[in-house]
Amino acid sequence: MFDKVLIANRGEIALRIQRACHGLGIKTVAVFSEADRHAHYVQNADESLCIGPAAPGMSYLNQTALLFAAKVTGAQAIHPGYGFLSENAGFAERIETAGLTFIGPSAACIRTMGDKVAAKRAMREAGVPCVPGPDSTMPTDDASILAIAAEIGYPVIVKAAGGGGGRGMRVVQAEAELLAAIALTREEARLAFGNPELYIEKFLGHPRHVEIQVLCDAHGHAIWLGCRDCSLQRRHQKVLEEAPAPGIDPALIAKVGERCAEACRRIGYRGVGTFEFLYEDGEFFFIEMNTRLQVEHPVTEMTTGIDIVQQQLRMARGEVLGLRQEDVQLNGHSLECRINAEDPITFMPTPGLIQRWEVPGGFGVRVDSHVTTGYRVPPYYDSMVAKVITHGATREEALARMRLALSEMIVDGISTNIPLHRDILDDPAFCAGGVDIHHLERWLQQRSPT
Ligand code: ADP
Repeated sequence: MFDKVLIANRGEIALRIQRACHGLGIKTVAVFSEADRHAHYVQNADESLCIGPAAPGMSYLNQTALLFAAKVTGAQAIHPGYGFLSENAGFAERIETAGLTFIGPSAACIRTMGDKVAAKRAMREAGVPCVPGPDSTMPTDDASILAIAAEIGYPVIVKAAGGGGGRGMRVVQAEAELLAAIALTREEARLAFGNPELYIEKFLGHPRHVEIQVLCDAHGHAIWLGCRDCSLQRRHQKVLEEAPAPGIDPALIAKVGERCAEACRRIGYRGVGTFEFLYEDGEFFFIEMNTRLQVEHPVTEMTTGIDIVQQQLRMARGEVLGLRQEDVQLNGHSLECRINAEDPITFMPTPGLIQRWEVPGGFGVRVDSHVTTGYRVPPYYDSMVAKVITHGATREEALARMRLALSEMIVDGISTNIPLHRDILDDPAFCAGGVDIHHLERWLQQRSPT
């Protein structure tokens, strides 16, 4: 049990976690870099502590400083949020060794899921559908490699076992290119991830990104909370998400969701997590598991009525999951627009002073943001400044509410991507539902040919 949590993160997610803690009567410690000193959530925490200069390596990624901050404030648990140290098994281990609680799964689970080959093997064993291709690292002799690719069938994708952030991957169209592509990717993986292991799988040409949220306690119970569609991406970064994924048979989602929950029971997963799939031609293919809270969790909260962050805290406290699968009712539709401090055309970050900040409201509208008028967006971190989330009985209603919400939002002083979101919400293909992961980039190219 713990009653004071250190939030090892910043921005909107630090505020989101703080609200969840306060809702449960848990005290919070906000840690901040010198660049975040004046943020409102820092002032609203029960205690706050500066952990270093602006550079993330010297503050939000500084494990020793974070552990020291927990020690001097008496926080018994650490919530890592997303990004930063949230999927760092070594950090989870250090926290547990210090006698504190890491709010997340065990270090062993983080480690397994961080190795994409091990993750794929564990998922296949649990009956989760995976992309065709072996769940073992690539052999070293050319003849065996060529045989594996021929059996999968071209095009194939060569991926680094330790890869992440959309890096360490290469698509191979034909056999003649395979061995050279492998040599290159192996070298990149060695340099970028310190792990030269590769694997190979079928390359899907026009998939959607559909993911399933899970919630698990430390007593062998696991449930799934519906699915999300995050296909609208630019350079592998999600831009707009929704729940549920439009046009997919709920019975199929339930079948895959149940497999995900079963996989969690098998590996002893604890807390919240997300199974990411590519969905193509009516089939789900597992690509990776995120062992943390995700940016887009609110669309699931809006459609299930479940506070995912409060549940995460409860699970970390050792409570027994109070929800059964049949308690999870999926209602209506929810959308989330990520509002970034960036130019809507060039996507260059636009840090600076926000002179006026007015957020939308009304029925079915939620805004998660740490920003206020007079806030200065620092240049050192991710450019997301807000998430605008809407809910409606139908997808059309959620879309209409989002259009209205964005028309009410006023940000003066810096440029944001709000105009981009407005345009997307008028795109007939997006409005029809079910676009693939390449849609946004194709659409952007047509909009402004370069
Ligand atoms: P990362 O951990 O780097 O995000 P993922 O395995 O999640 O890596 O893949 C990132 C992206 O690469 C996916 O969202 C998808 O766009 C593309 N991708 C990965 N595997 C495949 C595949 N087998 N076929 C087609 N696209 C893929």
